[in-house]
Amino acid sequence: MTKHHAAHLHRSYKRTTSDARSPRAVVLPDTLPPAKDTKQHPTDLGNENASLFFVGTATVIIEWAGIRIMTDPNFLHAGDHAQFGAGVSSERRTNPAVELHDLPRIDLVLLSHYHGDHFDQKVEASLRRDIPIITNPHARVQLTNKGSESFTNVSALAPFETGLVEIGGTGGVKRPLLRITGMPGRHVPSNAVVGLLNKMANAVSGTSFYHSNPTPLKRHQFPTLVLSFLDPPTTGWILELGTSADTHDPTDFAPGYRIYITGDTLFTEDLHAIREKYTATDNPIDLMLVHLGGTMIPSPAFSPLSFMVSMDAAQGVRLMKMVEPGVTIPIHYDDYEVFASGVAEFEGEVGREKVDGGGVVILERREAFEFRVRGEVGRMREEEAYFGGGRSSP
Ligand SMILES: [Zn+2]
Repeated sequence: MTKHHAAHLHRSYKRTTSDARSPRAVVLPDTLPPAKDTKQHPTDLGNENASLFFVGTATVIIEWAGIRIMTDPNFLHAGDHAQFGAGVSSERRTNPAVELHDLPRIDLVLLSHYHGDHFDQKVEASLRRDIPIITNPHARVQLTNKGSESFTNVSALAPFETGLVEIGGTGGVKRPLLRITGMPGRHVPSNAVVGLLNKMANAVSGTSFYHSNPTPLKRHQFPTLVLSFLDPPTTGWILELGTSADTHDPTDFAPGYRIYITGDTLFTEDLHAIREKYTATDNPIDLMLVHLGGTMIPSPAFSPLSFMVSMDAAQGVRLMKMVEPGVTIPIHYDDYEVFASGVAEFEGEVGREKVDGGGVVILERREAFEFRVRGEVGRMREEEAYFGGGRSSP
């Protein structure tokens, strides 16, 4: 049985700047900056009608049918620190491919979790308050509990909960529609928590960790740190670009391109459900955006005391073998000093494991990937764009 909450996200669309507090006179650019290189599916070329622009970290901007979806906005610069909570931060090594204030109109933000390398302090202060954001229930509370600074159009999806986003009417032509489903993710497998805490309890008494953290981290802070990575929970997404004849019925949806965005997760048992629901049925995943980096908290320099909270190269390849996406694009691999497993290591692992069926496309920041969404849609007219639609859960 499908539960359907009609028009949950419905609100009219206004063309506004990406900065809520900047004067209305600010003119936004109409387009993203030109990509320095554009790549396509290795074996399925031609008729591309959508693109993905890599900004950096886990930030990509997907353009299709006249709309732009931005994932995990992170616009800090090299030398800035992203906050992870529990007194831990990490220094950024890279710059984003485009500045926050140079972005064209963004219609929707898809946020995997509330950590500083996915939603940084600059983004939090600058995005217009009514920008539509879809995230998990934890991040929704964070984003809407800020008094007058609260974001006003935030929706949450738990794992396997589905939301529909309407894109606007095109009169007589099938309209483009997004179907977004939360996917499980875990920074710390629950069965590893006791082991981690023991390891840390046995560490040399009085150890302080300085490294790049502005404040030293004391040994006794480690349990808090481990627990802080159980919460915030992290979420992956199945983002489907498609069409519907009747946009208010979530079952009446024809997917034209299916993207799996892993979020910052380790390879855990939970992810097998993705294979059961998609790959093993008739719902193949066209593109997997895999968050790599083998993120080591509090820092790779504290090994063996540090612990991994996102997939490294080996786990990423295991996931490719399980999900069998048409294309895999690694993101979140070299932007912070806590990222210990880079893209070269991933390419090496792909070569060693001779992964089938997965064209790997490596994007540098400011490079783009073009792809084809199946099915004809009318291109949205900007003034008709709005976000609405329903929300369903199994
Ligand atoms: Zn991250």
